[in-house]
Amino acid sequence: MLLIFTIWYKIKIRKRGDIVLTIKVGKKKLKIFNLIILVLGLIIFLYFICNLVFMLPIFKTSYKYKTNTDNYETETFVTFKNKWFNCYVTESINVKSDYKLVYEYYVKDLLNDGYKNTKKDTYNRTIKVNGFCKQAKENYKNIHDSKYAEFMLNGNDNETIEYGNNYIDPYVIGKVNNKPVKEIDMFSNYNSNKVGSYVTSYSLSVNKYYTKRLYRTINVVDTIKPKINLSGDNTMTLNYDQEYNEPGFTAIDNYDGDITSLVKVSNKVNKNKPGTYKITYSVSDSSNNKTRITREVIVKEKDKVVNKVEPIIEKKDGITYVNGILVVNKNYSLPKDYNPKVNKEAYEALKKMQSDAKVLGLDLSLISGYRSYTKQEKLFNEYVKKDGVKKANTYSAKPGQSEHQTGLAFDIGSVDSSFENTSEAKWIQQNAHLYGFIVRYPKDKTDVTGYIYEPWHVRYLGVDIATKVKESGLALEEYLGIN
Ligand SMILES: [Zn+2]
Repeated sequence: MLLIFTIWYKIKIRKRGDIVLTIKVGKKKLKIFNLIILVLGLIIFLYFICNLVFMLPIFKTSYKYKTNTDNYETETFVTFKNKWFNCYVTESINVKSDYKLVYEYYVKDLLNDGYKNTKKDTYNRTIKVNGFCKQAKENYKNIHDSKYAEFMLNGNDNETIEYGNNYIDPYVIGKVNNKPVKEIDMFSNYNSNKVGSYVTSYSLSVNKYYTKRLYRTINVVDTIKPKINLSGDNTMTLNYDQEYNEPGFTAIDNYDGDITSLVKVSNKVNKNKPGTYKITYSVSDSSNNKTRITREVIVKEKDKVVNKVEPIIEKKDGITYVNGILVVNKNYSLPKDYNPKVNKEAYEALKKMQSDAKVLGLDLSLISGYRSYTKQEKLFNEYVKKDGVKKANTYSAKPGQSEHQTGLAFDIGSVDSSFENTSEAKWIQQNAHLYGFIVRYPKDKTDVTGYIYEPWHVRYLGVDIATKVKESGLALEEYLGIN
């Protein structure tokens, strides 16, 4: 350039032949005009050199820098190509003219509407490049600083806090050219007392062109289920036909407080249908945490109908008849002189039963039938000698208290406790009533009859009454309503 300038100068001066002032420098004469032109040329030359020095890297570099967020005068959140965070923008810098950046971004009004409003928009940013050394240098520094600004969140960008727990903001790390920045603007609408999503923003101003901004979402949540407390028992038992009365309940939630009124109760108890029912109590709090508990209600079977009609107890010649049925037990004795021998009708029924059983291969041999008062007296005394009065009384009868004295009772099969498990005993249990007999001292009725289970001892009542007694599942005393 200096060369072009000098040639141009020489041609121009020589042609015009201008005569200008001359000064003496040493022995040589130098024209003043020539000197001025030379100095001017030198300044212009230096100006270009200066520009070149500072602008060279700008020419060559296409800057890439990470843009998480940016701030353009309004409280908006900016992202590129619909990607939040970690988006890249390429800026090509051209010193010859102003350059323009066009950002396509989505504006989400985080702070006021919480992500609800999304708007696509463009933003233009113009960077003036005027060619002066100072400006170019400043531009370069700004871009350079932006590139080396470090700004990152401590902790996560999305924090979830259980309602009622303390939250301490972990803040951010901000550095420009490796030097920590102390003043970072922070703004938050966080409210620990209310379930919701909140945003905290942190902004770091790098220079007049560039502000870096970070956001953290803090979600205050309630995941704790409400508690339902039942008044009364968890398992309730009702009699048949008894009305179920709800004993009450309360529901308390850690966030909503008393929500008893929201509890839904499902009750399908049918007081006339025996069974086990489950009443369910369910409730949801405002964060949709559900609790469901149950109460068990048992509706009992209808009580077996006991003969509630007062029994008619008659005594004829010292013999007791209850509702016309001859009864002998530890409370009702027979006179010493009652001596009816074996009952013919009962004996015929026994023979029929024995022969039917025999067809099935069952041996219902008669062990003991009619016994007189005197015979019973001898027998009982023998048992007393052997086992003592108390024990003898559980398996044998005192004279006058034995059913064998009526001529209506028989011991069949085997008089032994092992008889219980034989096919014979089972058959008797199931079929004796068909022949007019009952097993007089049933299992589990010792407290009623006063006798141990005697599967071999049958008492004749006639088919009709024997069937009724059998179907009632009761001992004869219970059936008749006596002791
Ligand atoms: Zn007997």
